[in-house]
Amino acid sequence: MSAPRAPLKSLDDAWGELLAHAQPLAEVEDVNTFDADGRVLAQSITSALQVPPQDNSAMDGYAVRCAEIRPGVVLPVSQRIPAGSSGSPLQPGSVARIFTGAPLPAGADAVVMQEDAEAVAEGAQVRIHSQPQPGQWIRRAGEDVTRGAILLSKGERLTPASLGLAASIGLKTLPVARRPKVALFSTGDELVMPGDIAPEHMPPGAIYNSNRFFLRALLLRLGCEVSDFGIVPDQREATLNALRQAALQHDLILTSGGVSVGEEDHIKPAVQQLGELDLWQIAMKPGKPFAYGKVYRTVRPDGVAGGFKGPVVTDFAHFAGLPGNPVSSFLTFLLLVRPFLLKLQGASQLMPLRQAMTAHFDWSRADKRREFLRVHRNAAGGLDLFANQSSGVLTSAVWGDGVVDNPAGQTIAQGDTVQFISFAELMG
Ligand code: AMP
Ligand code: MG
Repeated sequence: MSAPRAPLKSLDDAWGELLAHAQPLAEVEDVNTFDADGRVLAQSITSALQVPPQDNSAMDGYAVRCAEIRPGVVLPVSQRIPAGSSGSPLQPGSVARIFTGAPLPAGADAVVMQEDAEAVAEGAQVRIHSQPQPGQWIRRAGEDVTRGAILLSKGERLTPASLGLAASIGLKTLPVARRPKVALFSTGDELVMPGDIAPEHMPPGAIYNSNRFFLRALLLRLGCEVSDFGIVPDQREATLNALRQAALQHDLILTSGGVSVGEEDHIKPAVQQLGELDLWQIAMKPGKPFAYGKVYRTVRPDGVAGGFKGPVVTDFAHFAGLPGNPVSSFLTFLLLVRPFLLKLQGASQLMPLRQAMTAHFDWSRADKRREFLRVHRNAAGGLDLFANQSSGVLTSAVWGDGVVDNPAGQTIAQGDTVQFISFAELMG
């Protein structure tokens, strides 16, 4: 008689446990600001200066004293201030020709844009057509960044805009968490790499390795350094060797396939032999076989590396085993491995935002597990469902632009409010 099956772990519990295992990497590196996109800031950045450095013109036009202007007045142009130069104090009874970004001369209190003025006497004078108000078209010193303000916070993931902001206060480099080193390998004797066998010569039962392509791309987007261990055969020894090797120089070993319950699934027992399996099987669909554990990184006195339990254990590599089915692999990466890798880098925002949206579809097959349905936002502001939700149908992840996070046991009717998580958010 087989023992009663333990209930699967809830996804919320799995998140809690998984993130507790992810202790941020200690090393910080200074990278060129140009190259810091997507990296996680290791220290908050405080500005030593203000931006803009001084009051300046928001328009091409004329710097004036408002009290001296009435519509139709003609005044001499006493100086010309292009961007990059600094003018002199504005002489009473005159205006200054000024250009966008040029510092406002002392004494001026507004800028009249050139469209509201007309050059007279070949530009020596100008007729002003409008009545400016004090402060008009002036960009104030410090209106973007005040001196001493925290500009970017530790744990922020840098974006193109944050690189620009860092550059605006003169930072050539930024302190970021080092890149996690990830060893990626696929398991499955049926797998063939594109290019190794032409489609017309594929033997029966063979399929192309698709997981390796999206997993590598997703890892790179998350700032990881990826070592590709290729395809590991469905054999105990080969699996043990690959895990031992990978553990030596990596923070995380990421595998796909071979974590289910079949006799060809060697990953789980191999991880148990070389370390520990902390988490296995989660109440989510797709993605149930997800596994997390550790592979001990040890060297025996005779110099043989890897996976020896006992007092010599010093250190370990994290292990995350993704299911082989492409959509399961894709979603468990995004929902579980992504926050894990962000936490390793010290990121403060780990979980994706959920957004309430309206279902424009019916879903009558409530599942016992929390389900992630591939959907697409439509022009009417609602969500359409991809017709085939099978975990093998990768088209759903290309057609879809996100998932509905549907609680266990829940049916959906058109018009219901559902929780949407966009791929753009998950892949950013
Ligand atoms: P497994 O988790 O190893 O039992 O694999 C489950 C299903 O996913 C099987 O149909 C495999 O052929 C398929 N599969 C496993 N790995 C990959 C991969 N890297 N690319 C595409 N399909 C895969
Ligand atoms: Mg397999």
